[in-house]
Formats: sequence, structure tokens, C-alpha cells
Amino acid sequence: MPSSVERARRYLALARAVLRARRRAFDPFKLTWILTEQCSLRCRTCHLWVGEPHAGPSADVVERVLVANPQLTWLNLSGGDLVERPDAPALLESVARHGRDLALVDFPTAGQDTRATLAALQPLLGSDVPRVYVTVSLDGPDAVHDRLRGVPGAAERARATLAALARIRRPGFRAVAGMTLSKHNVPDARPDDLRALLPDAVPAGELHVNLAHHSSHYYRNTDDVAPPSETALALLDEVLAARPRGISPLTLVERRYAHLARRFLLEGRVPGRCGALRASVYLASDLTVYPCTIFDRPIGNLADVGYALRRIPELLPARAALAEVEARACPGCWSPCEAFPTLLAGLGRTL
Ligand code: SF4
Ligand code: SF4
Repeated sequence: MPSSVERARRYLALARAVLRARRRAFDPFKLTWILTEQCSLRCRTCHLWVGEPHAGPSADVVERVLVANPQLTWLNLSGGDLVERPDAPALLESVARHGRDLALVDFPTAGQDTRATLAALQPLLGSDVPRVYVTVSLDGPDAVHDRLRGVPGAAERARATLAALARIRRPGFRAVAGMTLSKHNVPDARPDDLRALLPDAVPAGELHVNLAHHSSHYYRNTDDVAPPSETALALLDEVLAARPRGISPLTLVERRYAHLARRFLLEGRVPGRCGALRASVYLASDLTVYPCTIFDRPIGNLADVGYALRRIPELLPARAALAEVEARACPGCWSPCEAFPTLLAGLGRTL
């Protein structure tokens, strides 16, 4: 656990990195990194499990990336389900050891293995990283979740993992349930009781809601997964109304995200500048660099520039990809992976 001095130093590093991202591209303060494509579920909204999911970078390569990017302040480690990697505790130990400026590390899990989740988390809990967040996916009542995620008993296991995480007492640690709204868990017709659509045993005000997206390079989903907008809007409003008021920066950014998710549902696009390739960047499990989770514009392999994110401009397609992002010549999305850093950097301040 960090001392108050170390905590303050890392928050300051994050604030400086956010300011740098506002001034120039290719110096992101947030990295979304897929550490494996493997996972034990069979979701309808994501087809990573179809075919041969990539195992992810070796522990040695993970260390090289971390060592080459000591400036990183926010690491979102994703999958697949990274806790299902047998070496997940060692990977997160490496993150804790080498990420000297990390102020926030977060990862999602399907929550299918409580013991593995707790073991993976341990190095971060004992580290100097001030903020550690875990999101356990729960896409509705148990029967809906199991149908959508393709494996019986998935919801019950996820709720058991969430309950185990909720018992952890560590300043700066937070475990939340995350619900992805898609056409598979949001009906066309708005039901009288909207809360009947929400996960069992999770208070509405504690639920974190995001929108399902199409991504050919990441989720590899081919059909449109977007939720019917009218019911999704009502559901968002229901969750927002139940959420306790707060003035912490995180609460404010979360409210802003939800507010703009409404706009995305209504208009199909959020106006303003996107922070992809400025505030954030996406790294696939084979180290291919993309602007974000959604835009299928491969830029090159990070290994070809010594694993250093700041050297991405040396990859030939980098500047053209940035120009496309800035010209909004991308599919457009309101994916939380990029929306949160965009909001934090104030790049969407024209909204
Ligand atoms: S959404 Fe998550 S849990 Fe579902 S198949 Fe994709 S990686 Fe696995
Ligand atoms: S708006 Fe979405 S799809 Fe477009 S660059 Fe930003 S994150 Fe990617």
C-alpha cells in the first residue's frame, strides 16, 4: 500500500501525463492491453472464443513493455480473462514492480474463478499503486446472463467472485459489477419493471453500465450488438437515478460518461474530439497497436519500436491513423476504454 507521499507523487504524475496528452499525440497516459484472448465463457456479444484465441504475450514480453514505458500512469489490462492465465499473479507482480508511476490499474473479469481472481489481485493490493479497480461482468438476472454468456452457472460464479472481492479492505481498491447493454439483454419493448432487467443481488446504484459495440479486430463480433435505444435509455436513467450523489473526480467522470452514453444512444455518435492516440492507445495480445478497441486500423507492432509507446509515430501508418481519428473518419463509439481517458483529459470539453 502506498504511503501518502507516494500516493500524491503518482497522482501528480497522472495529472502531468494528462496535461501532456492535451498538448501532443502519441504520449498516452492510458494503455488498454489485451493480455490474453482466452476465456472460459462463450458470449454472444464477443467472439474472441471462436477459432483460436491468442494466448497473449509471455511474461518476458510483458516485462519489456513495462520497462520501456515507465511514464504510464493508467493501465487497463483486459482479455479474454487475464485471471485465467496461470501466470496472472506473476504478470501483475511485474506490473507492480515496473510501473513506477502507475496511479490506476484496472481489469475486468468474467469472475468464473474466485481463487484465481484473488491470487492475481494480490500483488496489486500489496503494491504502491493507489487505485486498483476490478469489474466483474454481470449482464442481467442469472438466467439472462447465463444465456448471453453461453455457460450455465456463470452468473452464480461471477456473483461469488464479486462477493469475495467486496470483502477486501484496502484503501483505493474497488470492485464493481459491470453490465454491458446489448440487444441480447435489453428488450425492444420497455417492461413496466425496468429493474427486472438488472443483475440479481446487485443494487442498481452500484451497477456500472456500458454499451455493447461492434469491433472487428477486438471482439470479432459480426452482427450488430447495439441495444434497442429506447429501453436502454430508460435503463441508464434508472441506474443513474439510483446512484448516490458524489463530487469525487471519478464520480463526476462516471456521470458524464453515462450522460453522453444517452447521447450516443439517441444520435449514434458523440460530438467532440476523441482521445484515441492522445490520451489512450490499444495494444492487442500479439502487440499490434490500434488507436482504440473499436477502430480496425492496425498501426504496426510495438516490438518493432523497442516496445516504447512514445515511438509509435515511427510506425508508418501512425500519423494517418491519428488524422483519421481527428477527422472522425472512424466508426465512432462511446466505449468506456477510450471515453473515460477522453473525458479525463478534457478532450471532449466541447461536448
Ligand atoms: S466478453 Fe469477455 S467473457 Fe465474454 S467471451 Fe469475450 S472475453 Fe470472454
Ligand atoms: S470515437 Fe471510438 S472508434 Fe473512433 S477513434 Fe475514438 S474510440 Fe475509436
